Amino acid sequence: MAPNDLDKLHPATIAAQAAGMLDDATGGVVPPIHPATTFVRDESYVPAVDGNIYARSHAPNGRMVEKVLAQLEGAAEAMVFPSGMAAVAAVFRALPAGACVLVQSQIYWGTTAWIRDFCTRRGITLVEVEAADTEAFTAACAAHKPALAWVETPSNPWLRIVDISACADAVHRAGGLLVADMTTSTPVLTRALSFGADIAMHSATKGLNGHSDVLAGALSSANADSAFWQAIRTDRDTAGAVLGPFEAWLLLRGMRTLPLRVERMSTNAQKLAEYLRDHPRVDTVLYPGLPDHTGHALACAQMQGGFGPLLSFVVKGGAEAALDAVARLQLFHRATSLGGVESLVEHRHTIEQHTGIPEGLLRLSVGIENADDLIDDLGQALGQ
Ligand code: PLP
Repeated sequence: MAPNDLDKLHPATIAAQAAGMLDDATGGVVPPIHPATTFVRDESYVPAVDGNIYARSHAPNGRMVEKVLAQLEGAAEAMVFPSGMAAVAAVFRALPAGACVLVQSQIYWGTTAWIRDFCTRRGITLVEVEAADTEAFTAACAAHKPALAWVETPSNPWLRIVDISACADAVHRAGGLLVADMTTSTPVLTRALSFGADIAMHSATKGLNGHSDVLAGALSSANADSAFWQAIRTDRDTAGAVLGPFEAWLLLRGMRTLPLRVERMSTNAQKLAEYLRDHPRVDTVLYPGLPDHTGHALACAQMQGGFGPLLSFVVKGGAEAALDAVARLQLFHRATSLGGVESLVEHRHTIEQHTGIPEGLLRLSVGIENADDLIDDLGQALGQ
């Protein structure tokens, strides 16, 4: 197949075939793990294999993941990291001291907490804004001229939908870059770069790997030559936030079923959202697939083939009623994280008490189980 034809392949084909990678030495249909940390040079002191010198900068298994991810994202290049937060940190470390950044409010709490601390220590001006409010975001860009804006869509755990294209235009007009945390969407549902984002970020710990057994992060860039992207690469390769070969190999394996898993998780989550919406013990359901969700029309335009695994709902009766229901769940594991094949439930208020999360809010990460089994479990836990 001519290399150009790769661009025309669908995500399911790219993922299932790991972008065509095989074990060249044996003909195996699965690429091998390369644990070597260093690589030989020939008699003339030229690397025996072009590009392989030392594993902090030249990691064959990491490169395989990056190749598949870049194709799924429609990106010029991708970079993997040992966690999602390591990817977040690599972006912010590439900013000059004294810069100004705009960050969406009420996103994943770990991101917000780290950015606040980092910006304080680095003398970076941090402006937090509700990016799902495009007018507010646009006004903040015009007023503060940020070097970088950070959004997350759908946001965790509020499920707010951000208009990537409008936000990209606004920050570009102000001379800055847009980075979009697309963890809950995965590139299967939304390719942020095609909507104008400069960099798409993922906690690959979540849907990309999908089996709750690898901690990893990823960035993808529309432009491989930009100074900002090169600064991130230099930071990763010299400061050493490198994904290990075993984790990279597992991640590549997990990504083979990504489109299939995302499709099933989204179908299941939609069914659960509709069930919960009609449940007498439930106050509110936050899921972009529901027609009355404030971001539904935008999500329909921006997300392709479903609305993802993440769903939040508020149980009537506050924290006590929510925790009682959680205690009765049999199939949903009481655990944090999202995007794995198994369904999880989290009482988010127990984890982040000062961020305005309703006391009765339960966040579900809907897996690939049979939806009727999950609905029965929710039914018995809530009391039908
Ligand atoms: N971004 C989002 C939306 C997340 O949900 C998470 C983790 O929960 C992260 C980033 C951080 O990723 P990691 O846990 O892989 O460091």
